Amino acid sequence: MRGRRTAARPAGGRAGRSGPEAGAGTAYATQDPRHRLNVPAGNMSCYPDDAGHFLRWLVRHGDPRATATDFVPRGRFGGYLADALADAAVRARGAAALRHVRARATGCSWAGARAALALSDGSVLHADAAVLATGPLTGRGGWVPGALRRSPRFVADAWAPGALDGPLACDRDVLLVGTGLTAVDVALSLDRLGRTVHAVSRTGALPRPHAATPLPPVAPPEPLEGLPLRQLRCRVYRHVRRTVRSHGDWRPALDGLRPLTARLWGTLTPEERDEFLARDRSLWNIHRHRMAPATAEAVAGLRRARRLTVSAGQVASVAQADVASQTGAVSDRADSAAADLCVTLDDGRVLRVGWVVDCTGPETHPARSGDPLHRGLLEAGLAAPGPLGIGYATDADGRLLGPGGDARAPLWTLGAHRRGELWESTAIPEIRVQAARVAEVLVDRPAAAARGAAHPEPAGPMGLPPATYAAAAARGAAVRPDADR
Ligand SMILES: Cc1cc2nc3c(=O)[nH]c(=O)nc-3n(C[C@H](O)[C@H](O)[C@H](O)COP(=O)(O)OP(=O)(O)OC[C@H]3O[C@@H](n4cnc5c(N)ncnc54)[C@H](O)[C@@H]3O)c2cc1C
Repeated sequence: MRGRRTAARPAGGRAGRSGPEAGAGTAYATQDPRHRLNVPAGNMSCYPDDAGHFLRWLVRHGDPRATATDFVPRGRFGGYLADALADAAVRARGAAALRHVRARATGCSWAGARAALALSDGSVLHADAAVLATGPLTGRGGWVPGALRRSPRFVADAWAPGALDGPLACDRDVLLVGTGLTAVDVALSLDRLGRTVHAVSRTGALPRPHAATPLPPVAPPEPLEGLPLRQLRCRVYRHVRRTVRSHGDWRPALDGLRPLTARLWGTLTPEERDEFLARDRSLWNIHRHRMAPATAEAVAGLRRARRLTVSAGQVASVAQADVASQTGAVSDRADSAAADLCVTLDDGRVLRVGWVVDCTGPETHPARSGDPLHRGLLEAGLAAPGPLGIGYATDADGRLLGPGGDARAPLWTLGAHRRGELWESTAIPEIRVQAARVAEVLVDRPAAAARGAAHPEPAGPMGLPPATYAAAAARGAAVRPDADR
């Protein structure tokens, strides 16, 4: 992406993307209406300064009775993002141009002052600055035994286009490895009479449901910043207990922590962060990343009907079920029982299933990713792993820092790649703020400063022009008149 605002030359933004539709991404490409947002509509606006933007879009686009507390199908949100992007591009005409390049970026290098992005179609895209907005890394499946990895009945990435076509085309039982939000969606999609979907994970715990009638967040009454992890944990538990007593629900306490999470994470030592991941992460995740109430009801129904089982367990080994298949006559027919897999779990249980789907979630460490773009950035020293190796090291605006802690190139990132720095950085309420800040920095960036680390940066707290969010909002409003929203 290139950003330069001069009267003579409009800014140009290039959105490199391998999929077909801008806006959909991994999360919102699904057209299965059972796959719902896990954040209520009132908190899913793509503009941080206009909370009702998504809700108004829903009302105008077929949901006249939509409310801020609705959890709508995710495909609707993909449509909204595509619309919002097209709308912004039209309104920015003359000042900025957007070109959607349908290709995968496979490498990024800096030649003098310009970035050179190698694309999967063999071409090279040149830019003054780049934003790594590639979303969560594809899971690596470190737990997958070799026999399973080689099996045509193994789905390594549940969100890849067409990934579930195989299990959807047959009635065989299915094993989901992972019991988080991905497993929940996959279980709903694969459900049918006569099939059992088994879901296993280390804890066997499903995400908790959102409240049908949510209460407003409750801020912790005691200061939490700067406390050692042990004390922080005690105070958080106390805050939750008090909120349960006063409000009858733990959720407002958790929601009240959300605006503080990044700051609290930032004050923990590396050892404390490590301890948090080992001891608290699972509990945090199931309470923080919750299911929509309708999703929770559907899941409860499947469990009651015994079409979904959820338990603690890890895959110990996998073998082909049928002896004939072991001798080489492997059937690749989707409905063939001969192709079943026998999965032995660490507690000795053996499950005979037609398919195994990896629902363990994305890779969080770029250094472990096989993606050439990420590998190349690290190898060239243009980026360095973030705290504990999670995501990338960035400054407060999301600019990538090299191994020495300095910004080596005009290269920014946001979302999942900032998780090591911020912890809470994967959902729209955080990403929209980060995106606005990156856009603000790029738009304000004098052309000379975009010419690489060899050139001095303008003075400011982060080595960038000082700017406030209000100033950014004012500029945003100049190209986003309210009448158009
Ligand atoms: C199943 C699921 C459900 C979710 N539900 C919610 C929700 O309800 N609410 C919420 O707030 N958050 C949700 N999230 C979190 C979600 O990740 C964020 O909301 C948001 O979609 C992240 O946006 P992003 O642009 O950073 O990444 P993505 O949406 O993943 O987009 C990244 C894009 O970059 C492309 N890309 C990747 N690598 C390259 C490359 N090398 N070259 C070119 N293009 C590339 C991808 O194809 C993709 O189009 C969900 C996530 C998942 C996986």
